[in-house]
Amino acid sequence: MKYNPQKIEKEWQKIWEETKIYEAPDEVKGKKNFYHLVMFPYPSGDLHIGHWYNFVGGDIYARLKRLQGFNVMSPIGFDAFGLPAENAAIQRQIHPKTWTYKNIKRMRKQLKSIGTCYDWSREIITSEPDYYKWTQWMFLQLYKDGLAYRAKIPCNFCPSCKTVLANEQVVDGKCERCDSQVIQKEIEQWLFKITAYAEELLNDLENLGWPETTKMMQKNWIGKSEGWETVFEIKNKTSSIKKIEVFTTRADTLFGATYLVLAPEHQIIEELKNEITNYQYIKQYIEESRKKTERERISEIKEKTGIELRGIKAINPVNNREIPIFVADYVLIQYGTGAIMAVPAHDRRDFDFAKKYNLSIIEVIEPEKKQALSDKRVPLQISDRINEGAYEGEGFLINSDRFTGMRSLEAKESIGEWLSKRNQAKKKVYYRLRDWLISRQRYWGAPIPMIYCKNCASTGGSAQAGWIAVKEEDLPVLLPRIIDFKPTGEGESPLAKSKKFVKTICPKCQGRARRETDTMDTFVCSSWYYLRYADPGSTQIFASKDKLKAWLPVDMYVGGAEHAVMHLLYSRFFTKVLKALGYLDFKEPFFSLRHQGIILGPDGQKMSKSHGNVIDPDEQVKKYGSDAIRMYLCFMGPYEQGGPWNPAGIVGIYRFLERVWKLFEGLESSASANKLKDGARKEDEKLKRLIHKTIKKVTEDIENFRFNTAISSLMILVNQLSLKNEQLTENYLKVLLILLAPFTPHLAEELWQKYILQNSSIHNQSWPKYDPKLIKEETITLIIQVNGKVRDRVEAEASISQKEAEKLTFLRENVKKWTAGKEIKRVIFVPGKLINIVV
Ligand SMILES: [Zn+2]
Ligand SMILES: [Zn+2]
Repeated sequence: MKYNPQKIEKEWQKIWEETKIYEAPDEVKGKKNFYHLVMFPYPSGDLHIGHWYNFVGGDIYARLKRLQGFNVMSPIGFDAFGLPAENAAIQRQIHPKTWTYKNIKRMRKQLKSIGTCYDWSREIITSEPDYYKWTQWMFLQLYKDGLAYRAKIPCNFCPSCKTVLANEQVVDGKCERCDSQVIQKEIEQWLFKITAYAEELLNDLENLGWPETTKMMQKNWIGKSEGWETVFEIKNKTSSIKKIEVFTTRADTLFGATYLVLAPEHQIIEELKNEITNYQYIKQYIEESRKKTERERISEIKEKTGIELRGIKAINPVNNREIPIFVADYVLIQYGTGAIMAVPAHDRRDFDFAKKYNLSIIEVIEPEKKQALSDKRVPLQISDRINEGAYEGEGFLINSDRFTGMRSLEAKESIGEWLSKRNQAKKKVYYRLRDWLISRQRYWGAPIPMIYCKNCASTGGSAQAGWIAVKEEDLPVLLPRIIDFKPTGEGESPLAKSKKFVKTICPKCQGRARRETDTMDTFVCSSWYYLRYADPGSTQIFASKDKLKAWLPVDMYVGGAEHAVMHLLYSRFFTKVLKALGYLDFKEPFFSLRHQGIILGPDGQKMSKSHGNVIDPDEQVKKYGSDAIRMYLCFMGPYEQGGPWNPAGIVGIYRFLERVWKLFEGLESSASANKLKDGARKEDEKLKRLIHKTIKKVTEDIENFRFNTAISSLMILVNQLSLKNEQLTENYLKVLLILLAPFTPHLAEELWQKYILQNSSIHNQSWPKYDPKLIKEETITLIIQVNGKVRDRVEAEASISQKEAEKLTFLRENVKKWTAGKEIKRVIFVPGKLINIVV
């Protein structure tokens, strides 16, 4: 019989489904639970090759863990709410719900064709009321804890998607989803106070088994800086004393601060408008800056603009010098105090700005190196370096009055302390991280469970006034099926059009009230889904304590590096909040994390329909079968790198699988089929060693997501086994199949049940162990001769080839000495013994 993957794969998928072999009970005696998770997909309608890559890599790891004796739970579901589904639905003029559920049906089938060990009994769909009921419940817990609040803030608004976007969803000033230019708009929004957890989110990164780059990205995103908030008084003609507070991490450079820069939104500009003689121009500049997005304002490429506020000056507290004040849009009101001190001698950006506006540049830090060279405190040729640009490093202070000569590190504290004694500075920590904006003016999301009541609003004037939480027992607030679900474009949710939805009763005063019509950012749904898998049917709570205890935290999480910040940070935040509220007893959701790379088209370009280089996995399955795709994807290169799809490469893998198939078929057809059972046969020592080496290699490689090198060693093993047909024992073949099982689960199962053990799945067997004694390479002492005389000896592997031996030999100093300047005529090599160079 020929290798026919299409036939055997379908058969086994059906049997696995019927026997529920991948369903994980919460407890199995004698086995440890292992929670393996892949990032769940959006129901975009089509499983692309990138999904395959993600899921296959994860599956290979999960299957190893199963075979190693863990009770593995590997669940799957759909991140079903959100913009992509809604935009696609609008494009096709069908209802988002219809579109989404149709896609889920199709993708389920596609997912099953991969041959993964998913526990489908735990499937979750975030747009189902029994799921989003708990998303809404999460919102209420955050609200009660003071972590969800309403505020009018400038938002990133996508005019095309007609909704607000989180900062993380704006890429280079453009909408992540549709690439439109994002504009700024002031809208009242719901936010989650993720900043309250900034310090914990930062500190707990340390112990995570995550890629260092991902941890670094989160660290930078949180962006902690410690320093001093310093007070600059403003000299003006009339009014009472005004102050500008400035945060700096470089108090050591205060003597070099020669001007201040304010964000256009800084309130002092409005307060002092009568003193500012050029206020008209300033006002114009501020208007202009409003049109720019934050990204445009801080873009490194664009030249910085600004205008001096004429008529007022600031006083540098360290030397009482009067310095000019500018307004410039590259300073953001949301960061720090919305005002910065400029030290042009020691900051590149300030330097460029000072040059442009002809402002004074005072050097106050001398690089350490120069100090080390000579002990003499000769002031450097300031003008020279100022022409070069700013020195941004630390060093020794110069031109800094009594602090001159101090090291930067020490001076930061001393200057800060000195000012703080005069009430002109206080210690401060700032984070770059800002609160998470979760309101979306879109239809396809979980409604925010809040009610606005006019009666109750009269008591307070804040943005929170009149907002009453829906009672927990009234959840879920169902998303109504409305016909006109398109965004309005005025920053109002389409839900506002449904009178039936909007009209409600105030839970507090029982008066007439209206529901919040915004829905939640879909990232809220995915911030806790990994908890739900532990107990997907629970109706009393999002997941019961026992089941959470049985499975969480996630042992291994596999998914795209594009989630390094948003999803992974939000999930960590949710876990920490739920822990603080007593619902969880762990503070980090994902113990280990791995990212897959990106699969490019055969032309090396990113796959896209317009390039015509998209590889359709369904088509490939029809041609080569799932096992071949699985193995080929893993063979392409290091898992975290990916690479271009090579049509010849998959053919190569297909042929390899055919060879495995033939290896077993050959046994059957040969008269010596009984040989298989003859374990007592004298084993080939070399083959035995290879088997044990391969076990070690494949085990360690899968553990470390180095699938490509694991497959290489499997290929070597199959080669050797094909050659040694005579010496094959059942034991060797068992080992081969189990090592193949994570990569090609169908093929391995078929051969296992046909030749080894009927009615017992290979996926329930035990992973083979290797004998460490057999791993060690045998070594020999290779004798090195020149013209027949022994000149050197070297330790080498017993199996060393002539080529390798020559390479090793010619590197030896002794050999170089005896062959220098001579012509090499011949090399005689006696394997395992000696090498003789004839000159
Ligand atoms: Zn957009
Ligand atoms: Zn009320």
